Amino acid sequence: MTRGGGSGNADPRAALVEHLKFLREIGVRELRALHSLRSPVSGAVVAPPHAPAAVSRRASAVAIPSAAGAVRAGDPARIAALAALRDDEIGDCRRCRLCEKRTNIVFGVGSPDARLMFVGEGPGHDEDVQGIPFVGRAGQLLTDIIGAMRMKREEVYIANIVKCRPPENRTPEPDEIAECRGFLERQIAIIEPSVIVCLGAVAVGALLGATGGITKIRGTLREYKGIPVMPTFHPAYLLRSPDKKREVWQDMQKVMALLASATAPG
Ligand code: URA
Repeated sequence: MTRGGGSGNADPRAALVEHLKFLREIGVRELRALHSLRSPVSGAVVAPPHAPAAVSRRASAVAIPSAAGAVRAGDPARIAALAALRDDEIGDCRRCRLCEKRTNIVFGVGSPDARLMFVGEGPGHDEDVQGIPFVGRAGQLLTDIIGAMRMKREEVYIANIVKCRPPENRTPEPDEIAECRGFLERQIAIIEPSVIVCLGAVAVGALLGATGGITKIRGTLREYKGIPVMPTFHPAYLLRSPDKKREVWQDMQKVMALLASATAPG
């Protein structure tokens, strides 16, 4: 069991204090320096992590309702493909036993044009209730990590290996992963991210087929169908082992460098 439960921080002041604490923990000492740097996604000088300035790779064309998992705006073809995957193919999925106890299918959230995609293990309690990935305590930590990368949650795409909550947050079984993995592959094919971050051993095993432990593999660049993949620790693990946050931050700095080089002209 790797997934953290509990809600994120609803009080904006407390959330800001938490975020500053997080930046300190990962070794960011100079906020001015951090925020005067350029976004690895847009190249623009960015505002602090929580200011409204979402930028996506391709021109945003239309806004759609949240049928395809809280997708907001982006390339119409991608929006339509994600909606068809969610509504027509996944539908009211009954392909495995996880359907029995779920409240909501947790499809994915973020920009259909995202250059950076995060892949987690599977929904926990809060995600099951809200139908949105990474909204509990582990999700707040992921949001902090994204903010420290000078991006916003809306700029990236977040999905899981399995779309329904395993009871009691147990690890998904191999047959459950096998039934669901294809949907994630389709999401990746539609979104075409420049970089994928795999959060934790289950995501790494399911997407890369890698065995041998997340501690060994984290921080070492892999590949999925030509897309660079960075394995790192799951945020729920970081809640239990905060000293590992610095290692995740090292991994995310490599990801930022990859994104910046993919954006660089010439
Ligand atoms: N952990 C995950 O792996 N996914 C979520 O959506 C939430 C917690």
